[in-house]
Amino acid sequence: MTDWSPDIARLAAFDDAEWARVERVYVGRLLAYIARRVPDAEAREDVVQEVFLGAVRGIARFDAVFTFEQYLFGICRNRTIDHLRRRAVHGVGVGEGKDEHSTDADEVRLEDVESNAPSPSRVVRANDLAQHGRLLLAEVLRDWVQETWAAGEFKRLMVVEALFRGGWRNRDTWDRFDLRDETAVAGIKFRALKRMRALAAERDPSGVLADAWGADDTAPAVAVDVADVWTRARVSCPARHWLARSMAGTLATEPDGGPAGFVGFHVDEVGCEVCQANRDDLARQDEAALEPLLANVRASTLGFLRSRTLP
Ligand SMILES: [Zn+2]
Repeated sequence: MTDWSPDIARLAAFDDAEWARVERVYVGRLLAYIARRVPDAEAREDVVQEVFLGAVRGIARFDAVFTFEQYLFGICRNRTIDHLRRRAVHGVGVGEGKDEHSTDADEVRLEDVESNAPSPSRVVRANDLAQHGRLLLAEVLRDWVQETWAAGEFKRLMVVEALFRGGWRNRDTWDRFDLRDETAVAGIKFRALKRMRALAAERDPSGVLADAWGADDTAPAVAVDVADVWTRARVSCPARHWLARSMAGTLATEPDGGPAGFVGFHVDEVGCEVCQANRDDLARQDEAALEPLLANVRASTLGFLRSRTLP
């Protein structure tokens, strides 16, 4: 099972066949994401349809620092939040104790998700680091993840993931990983940043990335853009076939937890929503059940594409 991603130029040219393929590949995982948050099955399908329409409408503004899947899930997250807000405003759940409670739980989860969105000041900073720089930064971080994975340093990978992706505090990270003390956490972070800086210098001799790390090795804010790109570009998300193998129980658990440990940590403890949705989608027993939804999505996307491509 390979991880397919579409040709953005074809999508931007409103290529119907490419959009049809996108719908078929991604419909199940989007539905899985929404199903964790929206209790009403019919409403879920409406949200899926809105997501694909939003994706077609917005494709001209696609930002190459993201994967296409990330782009799609960004829209999906926003449409899901919109839906739950509308539902809350209309007072659904009043007088239904249990339902109301589960709605609250969903809202809390979604607010948590939203708090990962960049604050205005972070957006300004991210804009300062030009598009080219952010792409390079994402590549550097992917290099670091891959070499750390290849070296079997899974504990180190999880610690840095906890700090950058999860926003964990040093104390909690130390607790979780049985490290000597909190200084050990800071040490791992320090060495990771140092190595990332070296990788950046190799890839980018011009120094475009220098600002991302800060001038000073010890500056506490050194990883702001690093953490932001780490999360938004999904540099540590295992490919879908790793998720499948993790579900089948065929991943190694050594050394230091091995790939099995990292994948479980990433999906369940850091709570990567996109990987959770992919895992739910992989666990789906009945593929044929998606066909009616896919037909509706196709009809609504085609309606939009025709309105844009006919004279
Ligand atoms: Zn992930």
